[in-house]
Amino acid sequence: MKAAFFREHGGPERIEYGELPEPVPGPGQVRMKVRAGALNHLDIFVRNGIPGIPQALPHVMGSDGAGVIESTGPGVTRVKPGDEVVLNPGIHCGECEFCMRGEHSLCVAFRLIGEHIAGTYAEYVIAPAVNAYPKPAELTWEEAAAFPLTFLTAWRMLVTKARAVPGESLLIIGIGGGVAVAALQIAKRIGLTVYATSGSPAKLARAKELGADGVIDHAQTDFSREIRRLTGKRGVDIVLDSVGKATWKRSIASAAKGGRLLTCGATTGPDPETDLGRIFWNQLTVYGSTMGTHAEFAGMLPIFRDGKVKPVVDAVFPLAEARRAVARLEEKGQFGKIVLRVD
Ligand SMILES: [Zn+2]
Repeated sequence: MKAAFFREHGGPERIEYGELPEPVPGPGQVRMKVRAGALNHLDIFVRNGIPGIPQALPHVMGSDGAGVIESTGPGVTRVKPGDEVVLNPGIHCGECEFCMRGEHSLCVAFRLIGEHIAGTYAEYVIAPAVNAYPKPAELTWEEAAAFPLTFLTAWRMLVTKARAVPGESLLIIGIGGGVAVAALQIAKRIGLTVYATSGSPAKLARAKELGADGVIDHAQTDFSREIRRLTGKRGVDIVLDSVGKATWKRSIASAAKGGRLLTCGATTGPDPETDLGRIFWNQLTVYGSTMGTHAEFAGMLPIFRDGKVKPVVDAVFPLAEARRAVARLEEKGQFGKIVLRVD
């Protein structure tokens, strides 16, 4: 089969496009013919090499994918060949104490398609049958590939962790990346007032088109002061900050009394200066979050059903041009998801 993969860890020049053996589904697994896959920053970390997480080489990247079930291994009844599906990228063991609670992304053996095992930058990908969900009919293949990882991550943070309710306010730090854009779309659907920051005027303009109520150029102004001004000194109920070290202290300063801070990453570093005084005096709560559960994945799919929420696709490249697609991601110029079309 055709695939984009690397034989050695390193820079983008390591990405090759060529032939690999077709994978064979084992018991409880499906083989999906990939119609589209989407890129995540995780793909870059995996290619560069993550300490403690070895991959069998050559390794196929890609956690997000949508396609058609092509064959199934022994014991699979959930789906059948010909079904159009999207994949939940998170793989759980089903037996540990956290899986028994239904907390799949806390699984002690939690793994991701494309990180620990072969991913979706390929004509075929193997996944557990339980990870295959019906593709929302309202979405194109590219849109369907674009949502699983980012929408699941944003959904768990806003709905399960922060328990956002209509009328509350949300500040998203660094709009443009997949999770931030998904959070904006979910938050508007819930009925939140949403503020977003970016250093890019073009990204702020796109955020307004998607319904952001207020935008802040964080290259020009201290966003925490601007949030205080925009909210009559009150601050926002929820802050989503996956930028980390560069912004965390100002994110704390942007939260209203009783506010919630959400983090699912730290692109500028995991060891920011903090402000315990504000955290206890203002009774703030910090929620860490990773991916989500099967209940959350299933629970989020209906938001696509009336066609009002469409995952934002920044650009589509053919699989053969995976290296160019990854270069666009590494330039950080994208708004929404970069997608690979697999013909
Ligand atoms: Zn488990």
